[in-house]
Amino acid sequence: MRPPTAFLLHPAASLHDTGWGHPEHQGRLRALASSVGRDMLALHGRAVQVASVAAPVDELLRVHPASHVEALRGAVARAADAGRPVEFAPETIVSDASWDAVLGSLGAAIAACDGVLEGRFSNAFVATRPPGHHCTADAAMGFCPTNTVAVVARRLVETGRAERVLIVDWDVHHGNGTQDIFAADPDVFYLSLHEWPQYPGTGAAGERGVGAGEGTTLNVPLPAGTDGPTFLHELRRALDEVLRTFTPDFVLVSSGFDALDSDPLGGLLLTPSDFHAATRILMETAGGACAGRVVALLEGGYDPSATGLATVAVLRALAGIDVADPTLSVPEG
Ligand SMILES: [Zn+2]
Repeated sequence: MRPPTAFLLHPAASLHDTGWGHPEHQGRLRALASSVGRDMLALHGRAVQVASVAAPVDELLRVHPASHVEALRGAVARAADAGRPVEFAPETIVSDASWDAVLGSLGAAIAACDGVLEGRFSNAFVATRPPGHHCTADAAMGFCPTNTVAVVARRLVETGRAERVLIVDWDVHHGNGTQDIFAADPDVFYLSLHEWPQYPGTGAAGERGVGAGEGTTLNVPLPAGTDGPTFLHELRRALDEVLRTFTPDFVLVSSGFDALDSDPLGGLLLTPSDFHAATRILMETAGGACAGRVVALLEGGYDPSATGLATVAVLRALAGIDVADPTLSVPEG
């Protein structure tokens, strides 16, 4: 019998507070959890929600120097003293709850990977907060105090759980932090499709990795206004290109949903159904190479209700069910 798809959301992730009016706010995960909860009847027997514990601090040190981790802990302490969120780094606010959110989300991501490797889950989606892909080893930015997907990828390789990890980043923004961390690493391939020009300004097609990592970075910049069919065509083409030279035994997805057409920060025109199709394409191509070992982590996505629908679409694709089955949908309310 097929093991279920796992959905993980550590409760501390929802409490990371960026302050009133910030696009990366606490309500994002509430909306996401409510969408997934409403879909549980359709997902019944195919997907399960799984609890997890916080990661030990040492896991962060796989990617981030101790000075960075201590600076984050200091900023969280300052927020606790001040009784309000404080700035940790450019565009990156933390609150007294952010330390627990970082370690809780990392713990959930680790539990997802281990569960997939041990065959308890077929694959998994982890609703992480704060997001991570803009954070380099020692420089937080763009709402990202640490880089969860990078820590998880490094852990897979360092511990021998995987030999070659592919990170597919379909957040509307280029994941400059993840690219930087693995630029010279031939064991972790970083593929990003993103709007360009856009924040943070990196991710040109000519950025292909450096040194021993030359050729294990692939960037697909897309103009504002790119629609779902074009995006999916480019995704398939890019994955085919990756698989010609790199055979992953584990795939991580930086699954931001700010490429949705209603997103206030992005200019691409994807629908939740397009994310279902993107996940299917990923599973048919890279998923075939790695025996289906796919774990998706939330990054951005700033229209909370659309982000919830897109999460359900990805979960349904991971669980092998159609994007929309009206006989299974649960009425709201
Ligand atoms: Zn983004």
